[in-house]
Amino acid sequence: MAEKKKKKKSKVIIVGGSIAGVSCAHALTLIGWQVVVIEKTTAPPTGSPTGAGLGLDPLAQMLITSWIANPHLLQHATLALTIDQNQATDSSTKVCWTLTREEEFNFRAAHWADLHGLLYNALPPDIFLWGHQFISFSISEDKSHIKVKTKVLRNDKIVEIDGNLLVAADGCLSLIRQNFLPDLKLKQCNTLRRYSGYCAWKGVLDFSGREDSETIEGIRKAYPDLGKCLYFDLGSKTHCVLYELPNKRLNWIFYVNQPEPEIKRNSVTMKVCEEMIDEMMKEAEKAWVPELVKVMKETKNPFLNAIYDCDPLRQIYWDNVVLIGDAAHPTTPHGLRSTNMSILDAAVLGKCLEKWGVENLHSALGEYQLIRVPVTSKQVLHSRKLGRIKQSLHLPNREQFDPKKATSEDLKDIQQKNMPFFTSVY
Ligand SMILES: Cc1cc2nc3c(=O)[nH]c(=O)nc-3n(C[C@H](O)[C@H](O)[C@H](O)COP(=O)(O)OP(=O)(O)OC[C@H]3O[C@@H](n4cnc5c(N)ncnc54)[C@H](O)[C@@H]3O)c2cc1C
Repeated sequence: MAEKKKKKKSKVIIVGGSIAGVSCAHALTLIGWQVVVIEKTTAPPTGSPTGAGLGLDPLAQMLITSWIANPHLLQHATLALTIDQNQATDSSTKVCWTLTREEEFNFRAAHWADLHGLLYNALPPDIFLWGHQFISFSISEDKSHIKVKTKVLRNDKIVEIDGNLLVAADGCLSLIRQNFLPDLKLKQCNTLRRYSGYCAWKGVLDFSGREDSETIEGIRKAYPDLGKCLYFDLGSKTHCVLYELPNKRLNWIFYVNQPEPEIKRNSVTMKVCEEMIDEMMKEAEKAWVPELVKVMKETKNPFLNAIYDCDPLRQIYWDNVVLIGDAAHPTTPHGLRSTNMSILDAAVLGKCLEKWGVENLHSALGEYQLIRVPVTSKQVLHSRKLGRIKQSLHLPNREQFDPKKATSEDLKDIQQKNMPFFTSVY
């Protein structure tokens, strides 16, 4: 009896096992592709305190729910944010007043490590190659295959992996993107990596067992809707973000205008020393109410990120290589976009590959690009504008923002609901 030859599965190699990478692993597993994820970190970050808070929009919530086995887990791992509030603080009097308040906000707050764990734990662990660093790739002449070279960091061995498609989910400093668009960072090349003019101090205060402490009672009095509100506090040439996370944690971000710092090639997170933290606390004391400063002071290991984005790319795929997540559209964080864009990229890529199949890869990737680029480009540019408004930096044809003299245009721009494509689904 002639045995029917089993059709070989299409295979994707995903570089990067963070949110974009694990989301893509879900989207492509779902359509029957064989998936390999290459990640240079030595072990899954699940359960570790890595990262801080993020906000999930309704579409991202829906997609995650469709990917994980137990949809209730998303509810447990996140906290509903039903209010988006912009308020101002007068630095000299420390008087606060509300600028905008949106009560039909439908986001959920998550800790990065919890969200990552949720997505990661719902995938087969054997698709991940931890401690593998992407080195290079080559594409076969007929463009049907791609070979990826990786280094096993444990023993420096080189391993080659074959597939049909390479997904670059290797973050905002993507090495794969640099194959096509060298990150020259020279004056004549402003396509990539643009320093925003400010850095972000971030921290998560774990207050479990200290719910009744003076600090927590104080902050709840000063910000009475904590637990359901995404607070943006606007000061003089600075702003702060504050919201609660599940499991008795408070997430804060304090943006500070400063010249571009020296960063290591592969990370925008900077090493900080005690003096830098002391300096930051002094700035915080000048800008914010004492209750917020107290939260910052009691936070262990605050960290500092240099904030970058890129002018939107027009092209996000070349032959068998496609960019997703921060690799495709590095963005400033003000529109709560990075994670949400990554999740949606993965879902759209999955749909396009399902529609066209591996034999029509060019059409699939072309459609993915056609759908995603116009949306992400507008969101990146809007987020850039939001950051410049809130940090009172120069914008063409516009007065520098002053919370005391906020115009109706300012108030419209700073609301999350006015992010382009805020409510649209693909
Ligand atoms: C550890 C960590 C913690 C984070 N915490 C937060 C947070 O608290 N709040 C927030 O809003 N955002 C956080 N982010 C960023 C957030 O994940 C992204 O902005 C967004 O979700 C898009 O994710 P991404 O997967 O495209 O990029 P990233 O999250 O930057 O992930 C890129 C991944 O690629 C891997 N990688 C890069 N180069 C190579 C290589 N050569 N070989 C193999 N692997 C490679 C990196 O190790 C990383 O895991 C965090 C990212 C990381 C990596």
